[in-house]
Amino acid sequence: MALLELQDLTKRYGGILAVDQVTMTVETGEVRAIIGPNGAGKTSLFHLITGVVKPTEGNVIFDGQHVTTMPAFGRCQLGMSRTFQITALFPEMSARENTKLAAQARDKQRWRPLGGGAVFAEAARRGDAALERLGLTHVAERPAGLLSHGDQRLLDVAMALAQQPRLLLMDEPTQGLSVEETAQAVEVLGGLFASGGLTVLLVEHDMEVVFRLAQKITVLHRGAVIADGEPETVKADPAVQSAYLGGYA
Ligand code: ATP
Repeated sequence: MALLELQDLTKRYGGILAVDQVTMTVETGEVRAIIGPNGAGKTSLFHLITGVVKPTEGNVIFDGQHVTTMPAFGRCQLGMSRTFQITALFPEMSARENTKLAAQARDKQRWRPLGGGAVFAEAARRGDAALERLGLTHVAERPAGLLSHGDQRLLDVAMALAQQPRLLLMDEPTQGLSVEETAQAVEVLGGLFASGGLTVLLVEHDMEVVFRLAQKITVLHRGAVIADGEPETVKADPAVQSAYLGGYA
């Protein structure tokens, strides 16, 4: 079943066609990546999906509901949670406090049949579970700002996960990481995705990362979809290789 459906989604900035009639779906349980050369429209498409910007034309349908004009917080309430390219955590608070706050932020946006302390205990439990899934339990009490860059990125994912998203949206999860940190992040994220139950859409520059993590890939070039399918098929596609000028295989 399609959890997310984009229909002819288009975004123009003055004379620039940033996103050009993009039609694609994300099925429940799928890990999909959006890739494309610089300026292809990845970030613009991500903003249209999360509700940061409104499209010029086209529709965004989440779980059968039209959300095209719904603001970002409304989409979050429906179960879209995103990570941030620039880590948005509280550096002086512990990793555990950060995930707990993230879990509470989602609680505030929906009615829960629990009172006072029970709500906090439930948020803490979900935060701790998210830390464990990202392999961060051993640094749970450390101030977030003192974690390694790689662990901060994983904490960012744990915070999104603590909101128990129906769709986890990841914006360049390995950007700015060293080779070693990238390898570690890919291992942890690969394990997380393999454990199942998540539907993920990620934007990522690093091809190695994409081919290790994604089950399906959508390729953008000049705002339009030029390929869509399984990694091996996409990798072998001549249109994709020429878009990347010389290919990446
Ligand atoms: P990169 O890989 O370099 O981050 P991208 O694939 O994410 O690129 P976008 O950032 O979405 O691509 O940009 C797509 C096109 O839209 C580019 O030509 C860009 O200059 C233009 N663009 C994006 N945002 C705006 C904006 N707010 N105003 C005007 N033009 C914009």
